[in-house]
Amino acid sequence: MPVASFDKEIEGFMAGLVKRNPGEPEFQQAVHEVAQDIIPFEIDHLDYKDAHILERMTEPDRIIIFRVAWEDDQGNVRVNRGTRVQFNNAIGPYKGGIRFHPSVTLSVLKFLGFEQTFKNSLTTLPMGGAKGGANFNPKGKSDREVMRFCQSFMTELSRHIGATVDIPAGDIGVGAREVSYLFGQYKRIRNEFTGALTGKGLAFGGSLIRTEATGYGCVYFAREMLARRSDGLRGKTCTISGSGNVALYTAQKLIELGAKVVTLSDSSGFVHDPDGIDEEKLRYVTDLKTVQRGRISEYANAYGCEFHQGKRPWNVPCDLAFPCATQNEIDRDDASALLKGGVQAVVEGANMPSSLDAIQAFQNARILYGPSKAANAGGVAVSGLEQTQNAMRLSWSREEVDRQLREIMAKIHAQCVHWGGDGDTNSYVNYVRGANIAGFVKVADAMLAYGVL
Ligand code: NDP
Repeated sequence: MPVASFDKEIEGFMAGLVKRNPGEPEFQQAVHEVAQDIIPFEIDHLDYKDAHILERMTEPDRIIIFRVAWEDDQGNVRVNRGTRVQFNNAIGPYKGGIRFHPSVTLSVLKFLGFEQTFKNSLTTLPMGGAKGGANFNPKGKSDREVMRFCQSFMTELSRHIGATVDIPAGDIGVGAREVSYLFGQYKRIRNEFTGALTGKGLAFGGSLIRTEATGYGCVYFAREMLARRSDGLRGKTCTISGSGNVALYTAQKLIELGAKVVTLSDSSGFVHDPDGIDEEKLRYVTDLKTVQRGRISEYANAYGCEFHQGKRPWNVPCDLAFPCATQNEIDRDDASALLKGGVQAVVEGANMPSSLDAIQAFQNARILYGPSKAANAGGVAVSGLEQTQNAMRLSWSREEVDRQLREIMAKIHAQCVHWGGDGDTNSYVNYVRGANIAGFVKVADAMLAYGVL
């Protein structure tokens, strides 16, 4: 079929989706990125097309929306909205993180749940896709306020999740502290100790390497991409955005493997340290962000480097860029700046950090571009390993979990090359197409087998 006909078909599909999901730009964007690859693919796989698999995959199984009422330290009643999007459980129980951030909307959670379905399929583990969260801002709240919020949130959510039903984990604004409060309340209400959440503390069923997994996995994926070009990480200058869980462990692994990390950021701006962030400086940031809950600008004061208020780090020349903060943090201009600065690879730790325009620019320039659903799948992969350990009632060593993580990231990379390359070992790989098709096929085959559901 000529390209123009595909364009028309994609346009028609998207018009229907936009009509059914008005005012949801992030969800529409995530589906558009997938539809561009799946609709042409379906021409050679008419069984998927005839069964309307893509259309069914863009409709969540269900969405649960609920009130979260809680009391702040002054005794004022506060109200937030909680949501869980159970997107697709064709290949396993629903699985996906919980995000607490004022920017959380239904559109954001639907995009994340949709992407999660593909990502979880790519890990090769039996996990369906889901996402949840609330428009709650943990920043500036006391521990007790966060605890009361988490308990109220879980009081409702606990009816809808479980170790064989839906297994939430952390995401933006939900780290070890929040997962602990959430799991404590789940255990109390349901009177059962099961692996109904992942990212738990080591004392109560957590897995070694889960905290580090998304960042480490992202670097392992970058290493696979470079190795295919007979290149490596050593000596590469890297820019990273964010200074949360994913950013910090991406930085740690890059430093360990001999790369030079020159930026980190938060929502107020970025720091540029041309000498490179070494292990000692990284320990300082980790304490600053996870214990003191401070701002990244304090790093600039501590180490005498530049802080760029309200800016993103993409104008800083680099070999490799790792967006690890949030969605749509690289637009067309940022992509141009990165390309002008000589970037050779963009590897996404965050979910959907690049706009569709930016992705197009990277692909036109034929640089290595590792999309989030492949590159950041290490987090959920180790969550899957945490579930396995919980079910077996044992704990694997750090080395064992890390070995399995490396193996899974290599398998994800191989699937992307299989579906996104043209079979020639030296050819350009379209990792977006590779990840989309590989993630789709497994879920689609299961859906076909179930009949019309
Ligand atoms: P954290 O809450 O630990 O850190 C988020 C970081 O991003 C912080 O530095 C935060 O700055 C910054 N940030 C958040 N929102 C914005 C914004 N609107 N503009 C600029 N900066 C922002 O979250 P994670 O590290 O867990 O998550 C980061 C990304 O990685 C997200 O896209 C998430 O979905 C994705 N991800 C996370 C996984 C995990 O295992 N945690 C797994 C797979 C993907 P500030 O401190 O100022 O808010």
